[in-house]
Amino acid sequence: MSAQLTPHMDPFTVIHSSKSSSYSYLLESSQQNPRWVNSTATKPLFIITPLHESQVQAAVLCSRAHGLQIRVRSGGHDYEGLSYLCGTLFVLIDLVNLRLVEINMTDETAWVQSGATLGELYYGIAKESQVHGFPAGLCPSVGVGGHLSGGGFGTARGDFAQCMSAQLTPHMDPFTVIHSSKSSSYSYLLESSQQNPRWVNSTATKPLFIITPLHESQVQAAVLCSRAHGLQIRVRSGGHDYEGLSYLCGTLFVLIDLVNLRLVEINMTDETAWVQSGATLGELYYGIAKESQVHGFPAGLCPSVGVGGHLSGGGFGTMLRKYGLAADNVVDAYLIDVNGRVHDRKSMGEDLFWAIRGGGGASFGIVLAWKIKLVRVPPTMTVFTIPKWLDQGAIELVHRWQFIADKLPEELFIRVIIQKVSDGKAAQSIFNSLFLGKAESLIPLMDQNFPELGLKATDCTEMSWIQSVMYFAGYQKGEGLEVLLDRTTQYKSNFKAKSDYVKEPIPETGLKGIWDRISEEKIAFVIMDPYGGRMSEISESELPFPNRKGNLYNIQYLVKWEQNDARETNKHVHWIRMLYRYMTPYVSKSPRSAYVNYRDLDLGMSASGNGSYLRASIWGPKYFKNNWKRLGMVKQVADPENFFRNEQSIPPYVAAGQRYK
Ligand SMILES: Cc1cc2nc3c(=O)[nH]c(=O)nc-3n(C[C@H](O)[C@H](O)[C@H](O)COP(=O)(O)OP(=O)(O)OC[C@H]3O[C@@H](n4cnc5c(N)ncnc54)[C@H](O)[C@@H]3O)c2cc1C
Repeated sequence: MSAQLTPHMDPFTVIHSSKSSSYSYLLESSQQNPRWVNSTATKPLFIITPLHESQVQAAVLCSRAHGLQIRVRSGGHDYEGLSYLCGTLFVLIDLVNLRLVEINMTDETAWVQSGATLGELYYGIAKESQVHGFPAGLCPSVGVGGHLSGGGFGTARGDFAQCMSAQLTPHMDPFTVIHSSKSSSYSYLLESSQQNPRWVNSTATKPLFIITPLHESQVQAAVLCSRAHGLQIRVRSGGHDYEGLSYLCGTLFVLIDLVNLRLVEINMTDETAWVQSGATLGELYYGIAKESQVHGFPAGLCPSVGVGGHLSGGGFGTMLRKYGLAADNVVDAYLIDVNGRVHDRKSMGEDLFWAIRGGGGASFGIVLAWKIKLVRVPPTMTVFTIPKWLDQGAIELVHRWQFIADKLPEELFIRVIIQKVSDGKAAQSIFNSLFLGKAESLIPLMDQNFPELGLKATDCTEMSWIQSVMYFAGYQKGEGLEVLLDRTTQYKSNFKAKSDYVKEPIPETGLKGIWDRISEEKIAFVIMDPYGGRMSEISESELPFPNRKGNLYNIQYLVKWEQNDARETNKHVHWIRMLYRYMTPYVSKSPRSAYVNYRDLDLGMSASGNGSYLRASIWGPKYFKNNWKRLGMVKQVADPENFFRNEQSIPPYVAAGQRYK
């Protein structure tokens, strides 16, 4: 250690052996719990009190080089004394001299050294501003180093609850809306709509509070109280985010769960509906079917998906070739902005209205409700599902399908699912189709365009639109429509997914490689959804969702597993990454496009969502292509301080060369 100090420096100011007069004082002065003062526990060989980071570096390197363990102490408040007790020979690095607090009012941040106490930090802030604070613990002598490392909370918790309670009407029981981790409802609420249970037993920070607003004023209050008390928020509608971003967060946060805001109001006069974000697609479809047999809505297949997240990211299903995305059919919306104000399309302006229809959830505010244009559907439609095994020419058929699927009349949607559903079985391809018309029209169409599949009348089933919704959701014939109101997801399982767009047919050898790989897994899917039709008529910049003309189909890769542990997770995540790598030559390039609703953090992310625009530009254009810049510019106006954020939200735009605040 001495060799690392500058020549003119007295080593005894930094290195304290048990013989130094300062040793006992240093050892005991910041031990918050004196239980061990007279214990026989091994005492440190040396206490190092660095004055400069180079001395911390030296202490780490010298300890390693000489086989000594270290303990690091900031404020010494560890409940079990782990910052200064050790069962073997060790060096105690005490950061008491590294406690600078530098406040920067320009960007409302501070650098604080770990050895500072919370009291020193609070004092530093108060010296600079009467209107700023920091949401950490209550005890001023707690050290910043350990406190922030373990999460740290303090008055923010109490203040937030008080702030929220104050906003509720006097006769209202706050416990119906505000759920702390002590509430009996907390765990159920947290887990009930997590579609991907991968994180249920994880050590991820859990929300300080779950707020389940019954009225928009409570959403406003949750936004304002979170901001006022330095807490982040996560917003959840249906909880189907692939990476759990609607309920996971790396720091103290409040979860606003819109489960109670799920009204569906159909207006047959102008063929529109207002639907609140917390409704599921099933609730929306059910509401439409109750009012009309000849109307529908072109959104996703899974009834438990939430309207809020789905429409925010685009949303497509079996009618995309005829009517485009769900977001293409949104005509108005109510949004709560960062100042808690409610806007409709007119008051939010066309830029913001553009951004919330496909720019991905969580970036621009909280969408309370959407006004959608219903679409007309024929009273009779036709569905079929034809499985093909390898020896039935599965690969050749998928190969052929690529040449026709996007060029068929827009009433005809045929998707392909290459799947492996259990260990014993081989992979197969399934041709799964919806035709907006009768079987008698479908069969000649198929004979003309895709005779190789050999569709027969007996393969076809005629039904209404809502029955087709049930069919694609996997419900059995004869089940009542009410199953669509069941918010519990049918497909709950640990999974990882990724996505791609294909612009040129993949050769048979390439498809064979997919088969080989999928055969290695137990439960895996490659789902190919054809584009073309209406999707090709809408320009790439009409909405943030850019994957329009020129795309033959979208691919979703999906792997599922049963056991929720790190080993299993890593194994399957590795498998899907290898498949994705294998697909590189066959899919879109520069950028390699992906679908934001099939969220994939492998593409890149901002740490706690607080990254710069330039850094986010690594992954942003993959979802949004040339719309990325406009999204950043809208964000810059709507939420310049980046309050609404997560690991893949849109950061405020900054030009190259400029620094992000
Ligand atoms: C089983 C399953 C089937 C699926 N099928 C399809 C399909 O057929 N077609 C398709 O296109 N997609 C499909 N998806 C993907 C789905 O569209 C997205 O996962 C979608 O974002 C889920 O919305 P949510 O409200 O359920 O999710 P959430 O997890 O609640 O939200 C997703 C994101 O949006 C944000 N958000 C939620 N609500 C709001 C709001 N009101 N205002 C602002 N931001 C908000 C969240 O914070 C989060 O970042 C499917 C997903 C699953 C798991």
